[in-house]
Amino acid sequence: MNGTDLVILGGGPGGYACAFRAAQLGLSVVLVERDKLGGTCLHRGCIPTKALLHTAEVADTAREGVRIGVKSSLAGIDLGAVGAYKDSVVDRLRQGLRSLADAHRITFVKGTGALVAPGTVEVDGRRCAGRHVVLATGSYARSLPGVDPGGPVVTSDQALALTSVPDRVIVLGGGVIGVEFTSLWRSFGAEVTIVEALPGLLATEDTYAAKQLARAFRRRGIKVKTKARVATVDRTAPDGVSVTLESGDVLSADLLLIAVGRAPNTVGHGYEESGVALDRGFVVTDDRLRTSLPGVRAVGDLVSGPQLAHRGFQHGIFVAEDIAGLDPSPVQDTAIPRVTYCTPEVASIGLTEHAATDAYGTVETVTYDLAGNGRSQILGASGGIKLIRAPHGAIVGVTMVGDRVGELIGEAQVILGTGATAKDLASLVHAHPTQNEALGEALLAMAGKPLHAHA
Ligand code: NAD
Repeated sequence: MNGTDLVILGGGPGGYACAFRAAQLGLSVVLVERDKLGGTCLHRGCIPTKALLHTAEVADTAREGVRIGVKSSLAGIDLGAVGAYKDSVVDRLRQGLRSLADAHRITFVKGTGALVAPGTVEVDGRRCAGRHVVLATGSYARSLPGVDPGGPVVTSDQALALTSVPDRVIVLGGGVIGVEFTSLWRSFGAEVTIVEALPGLLATEDTYAAKQLARAFRRRGIKVKTKARVATVDRTAPDGVSVTLESGDVLSADLLLIAVGRAPNTVGHGYEESGVALDRGFVVTDDRLRTSLPGVRAVGDLVSGPQLAHRGFQHGIFVAEDIAGLDPSPVQDTAIPRVTYCTPEVASIGLTEHAATDAYGTVETVTYDLAGNGRSQILGASGGIKLIRAPHGAIVGVTMVGDRVGELIGEAQVILGTGATAKDLASLVHAHPTQNEALGEALLAMAGKPLHAHA
């Protein structure tokens, strides 16, 4: 394999994006993957969970049709058929990726690779050498110490493969995975309790989102327990699994989902042994994603920061272009949009009020309630938008809560990217009636001329 420009370890979003871009730029690429192309995102994360969340949305629509005069009801969820639909979506996308990899003439090596020296990866005993090595081995679902998955205790990996809807579920962890599965199972008819150690759900988001989401979840009949720490888990309980909290409360359910974060896949791949510096398990990189070992870069969930597929894509593209000498701009974590696909959805970009206050000393905020937005009222959506303005006039944070607000994040991204003031942006004409108009209303309010809102 001498003469290869890039050997990439891992075929998830970071790895395959790097491979595709490098190939487009005329570099020769070897992509090493032990499983299927697409990684966690395609096989155990973004795509299968969003397929399930789509079925949840359809179930809610069937259940709620009667409220708006459509005689409908939900007869039940056939999780076998739901799973077949989810798998068909995943398989179609996987085949698409495979055909793109072939079209780019990427050499795909199936096997478990390890870094053995700068520029050298060993795959099941076979050596692959390249001018550059890109580490892209992603992350895995953490468990609680002493509580390994098995039986009624699952991580998101096993939760995606359930064949029947559990009657009662405890979700441990109120981060992105926890709230998405909570929302999903509630829509499928389960009784769900979500347990979070911190004071609010989605702790990395603005507290505005956490409060709106907790309120909406409670309205949906979900039990939300915050500031709740687990003392013990008993998986031998006669009726499934029982969880005792430090407060003494005992919860029992048929299923316990552990969603307490994802850890970088950095052990067992020869990284530290070859001289790649790690910090709390993450690969240490500079702003050009170079590791401490010359010629070795790292992308995606291996690098401390938001663990998001679209960050991985951007990392991969950046590294390929940097190696090809195009001098791309480094990827900024604050410019990465975040979307949580629960009902209601949460979408955000930039800083939270807390982080903006730390950064600028003082900030101004405006909130706009979807109660004033015509399209949201038609759709029965509740939630709102919060804008954060720094003292120099630029908007530095946007948080949105409501049905399908994830589709609105693109405009917020452009707003943050341009650094324009609310006064300039308030003259943008938004189509009526759209949900996207709510962002326009928030901008009007921030410019001191609210329309469908009280001053
Ligand atoms: P997370 O870090 O987002 O949330 C884990 C939560 O568990 C935290 O709020 C933490 O306080 C809580 N927790 C930890 N230990 C606990 C305990 N013993 N008892 C109660 N609560 C406890 O992690 P996640 O939700 O597992 O997600 C992992 C990663 O995957 C995240 O970085 C996330 O962004 C990413 N992801 C993104 C999407 C998306 O973009 N829609 C979807 C799924 C996952």
